[in-house]
Amino acid sequence: MTNPWEFSELCRMGGLMLRDETVDVDFEALLYAIGGVESRFGTFYGPRHENAYCRGGRYYDSELTRKHNCMAHCSYGYWQIMFANAAAVRGRITPELMLDPLHALPITVHWMRRVVKRGAHSVRDIADAWNSGSHRDSIVPVAYIEKVEKLYKERIDVQF
Ligand SMILES: [Zn+2]
Repeated sequence: MTNPWEFSELCRMGGLMLRDETVDVDFEALLYAIGGVESRFGTFYGPRHENAYCRGGRYYDSELTRKHNCMAHCSYGYWQIMFANAAAVRGRITPELMLDPLHALPITVHWMRRVVKRGAHSVRDIADAWNSGSHRDSIVPVAYIEKVEKLYKERIDVQF
């Protein structure tokens, strides 16, 4: 029996959830690539505090902070989704639930849909949006995008 917590198995499930997306992206491979960079393929997935979401930061949210304090300023899980983004797609999510990969996966998938809906239709644009918040802004994390593209291509090559 497969282990449902295992990173590549979660990528497979996420890919299945996203198979109705019509853009030309293999989402299983993309989740594998993003998770590869974000958590070393599911190895280091503890919460990471981002100062930009904390007091005085540009993304500070007083409501989320009142509820969860600095736990609201962290990214979570194999794909290190920001808590603020998780809360945007599912208002009742808690930091505790985001520590559970089986809760984090559907929320991560939901956020992925939102990124695609906003017009990121390629591996490059989605990686940009995943890391810097948007593929349209002036922040282009070149090294991050290159790492994701490389892992994505490797994963596709293994599959076929
Ligand atoms: Zn904080």
